[in-house]
Amino acid sequence: MPEKPMSDRVELRRVSKVYEGVTVVETLDLTIAAGEFVVLLGPSGSGKTTLLNMIGGFASPSAGQVLIDGEDVTDLPPAKRPTATVFQDYALFPHMSLLANVAFGLRMRKVPKAERLAKAAEMLRLVGLEGFGNRGIHQLSGGQRQRVALARAMAVEPKVLLLDEPLGALDLALRRQMQEELVRLQRRLGATFVHVTHDQEEAMSIADRIVVVNKGRIEDMGPPDRVYLKPASLFAAKFMGESNVLGGRVVASQGGEVKVETALGPITAPGNSAAGSAVHLALRPEQLLLSPHQNGVSLGHGRVEELSFQGTHCRCHCRVAGQDLILRAPVSAGLTAGQEVSLYAARTDVVLLQR
Ligand code: ADP
Ligand code: MG
Repeated sequence: MPEKPMSDRVELRRVSKVYEGVTVVETLDLTIAAGEFVVLLGPSGSGKTTLLNMIGGFASPSAGQVLIDGEDVTDLPPAKRPTATVFQDYALFPHMSLLANVAFGLRMRKVPKAERLAKAAEMLRLVGLEGFGNRGIHQLSGGQRQRVALARAMAVEPKVLLLDEPLGALDLALRRQMQEELVRLQRRLGATFVHVTHDQEEAMSIADRIVVVNKGRIEDMGPPDRVYLKPASLFAAKFMGESNVLGGRVVASQGGEVKVETALGPITAPGNSAAGSAVHLALRPEQLLLSPHQNGVSLGHGRVEELSFQGTHCRCHCRVAGQDLILRAPVSAGLTAGQEVSLYAARTDVVLLQR
């Protein structure tokens, strides 16, 4: 390990990317602090890999600048940047041993052989593959390949590590384990991590900050809890997890609260919006309550249509005033299909989204 854990700040300034006349990254600004663990979260085709590749030097912006540690690297090739990339498919070299794979970046940087092999062995130890150095890539499991890809990227002591859906090919248990390991590794190395995924649970469990990407634009960014609980847009609300979304019109706006007329009747929510404007209100399934909340809102009466036991809770579809609402009820509530229910929510949980 380097004595001084090192990391660099990354800045995208007015960056855009056009492929064959199609804009895949709209003009955007993004600053990632030194030592930050940032996750780019978005659906397939939203431009996550393109953004990562522009930081790593594998794609050049159509306009704008990429700065690392304040230096303009827009025209520098990948090997001249203080970055390393773990690619989505790992891109390991099947004809090389593990050790040679891990030492590859150092070879490209003309590090003497003895030094690079020692470093590669150290990296293999760090990812728990000590003594595997002479094996071939085909002799490894998916999880082990993932570790080799990580070791190869870390061997060059990057100040910025770029990870493109590195856990996508792993089963759920291994994915969870690797998520925890990545966080520990990042704390230990002190490097800036930029991690791409389409999995919102993964994003929430590892990120200091989530950047929600949609159609080459940033929809929202912030700490996981804020983005989950108070998403900035309808897209961010839906992509971060299940949400009950109601359309409505603002009938009053006063003192930091709006009253919105919806299919469920008037609902009060925190926020500001001109009377008459069309808005959405969003509530997470676990925010729907079966009994009145102090200073809460009433969502009306309805019937449980369908429910499934999920171990930690019951997931129910409720029909209220013609709307399908999803509710996460405690198992102890003992709900049954066909049962009549009244639904409530805390006023402060209701999220106001401009249309
Ligand atoms: P994501 O990683 O979020 O799935 P990508 O950044 O790979 O998204 O792709 C964003 C868009 O850019 C997609 O529509 C994709 O087809 C297009 N695209 C990506 N790379 C290229 C390329 N080399 N040439 C042409 N189009 C590309
Ligand atoms: Mg991608």
